[in-house]
Amino acid sequence: MEITQAGWNIVGHEHAIDLLRRTLAAQQVRHAYLLTGPGQIGKTLLARLFAQTLLCTGGPDPQVSPQMPCNTCLACRKVLHGNHPDLHIIRKAADKQFILIEQVRALQSDSSRKTLEGRRNIFIIENAEAMNIQAANCLLKTLEEPEAEVVLLLTVSDPGLLLPTILSRVQHISMHLLTSSQIKTALEQQWEVEPDEAALIAALAAGRMGWAIQAAEDEDVLLERKAQLETLAKLPGVSKVQRFEIAQKLSVDTDKMRIVLELWLLWWRDMVLAANTCLDLTVNVDMRPILKQQAAKIGTAEAERMVRAILGTMEAMDQNVNARTALEVLMLDLPTIHS
Ligand SMILES: [Zn+2]
Repeated sequence: MEITQAGWNIVGHEHAIDLLRRTLAAQQVRHAYLLTGPGQIGKTLLARLFAQTLLCTGGPDPQVSPQMPCNTCLACRKVLHGNHPDLHIIRKAADKQFILIEQVRALQSDSSRKTLEGRRNIFIIENAEAMNIQAANCLLKTLEEPEAEVVLLLTVSDPGLLLPTILSRVQHISMHLLTSSQIKTALEQQWEVEPDEAALIAALAAGRMGWAIQAAEDEDVLLERKAQLETLAKLPGVSKVQRFEIAQKLSVDTDKMRIVLELWLLWWRDMVLAANTCLDLTVNVDMRPILKQQAAKIGTAEAERMVRAILGTMEAMDQNVNARTALEVLMLDLPTIHS
């Protein structure tokens, strides 16, 4: 089975690549694209591959971008090594809450100068929803009057998190979760993971190739997940005081808290399935006995309520509600099981 498209070294996403390839073939590259889809599915990777193709000089005419990156020309190698002077990546700094206006202003001063080596000046804005309102408004200026050579590639999990004025000026490319068989095959063929482990990781990845690669390359990812789920499974049986202690610990690092909330969301979706006797559809395949046991006590309505509560908490965090407060509210929402 062919798991990546010729030259485009990414698993799946045939539809998005097809669209980009046609754009390149017609030489109708636009000034701004927005790649949307769930976290860790490959949005940033695809943005980088598109940037690489735009800068690639390995096609039949070195002056024209080919339909796929050659991966061998000097421009391609520079992109792959992260040192092409005409590719700029903007992301939220780890110690900051937002992408700041200074970062967007730096983009604007870079975009108004001539390209150093390539045909284009490319800016990738990762998780663009992290821009605060000043930064987003500042970016609009670039979108309204783009320099001829500039291409902006934004990624975002949910387009609803961006200003409508930004949305109306970008071409939207939606990307989707992969199937677990795509992930399993890729792990076996490209990462040389043993079939049993590949099957487990593919199931747990729930469509997110980026997560699957992390789990295949770093055993701590699976161990951490297991530890988090074991804590989660105990929560309905512990006191409020203990729940608040856990909330306090988790909310110290908001980036990590988001990852944990994703895990919780999968867990409670599994609980809904388990309560509806669809245990075989659950993602957390290795935790099915506990899911089954708890679902019998919790029931569908309560499990569904928890899914909504977790989604609400995630939304609140996107709107920068205090993380600890949000998590404490969620802890109070948790059903109680007396063993
Ligand atoms: Zn190339």
